[in-house]
Amino acid sequence: MTDEPNSMLVHCGWCRHEWFAFKLPMPITEAAELAANMRCPECDKPSSQIYCGPAPVDKINTSAERV
Ligand SMILES: [Zn+2]
Repeated sequence: MTDEPNSMLVHCGWCRHEWFAFKLPMPITEAAELAANMRCPECDKPSSQIYCGPAPVDKINTSAERV
């Protein structure tokens, strides 16, 4: 995945697909409108299933990142 520091990563709580939903900076009103109408490009779940940040990692294979 390419590094996009000026984009905001979101993920689908249903299928865990991750994508960059926002190009920053963006007017907050535009961002809010975008968020309200957002759908997962993979499973088409509505914005209520979409969360900020990367998808949570499974508990397996996380020993190297354990806090
Ligand atoms: Zn999805």
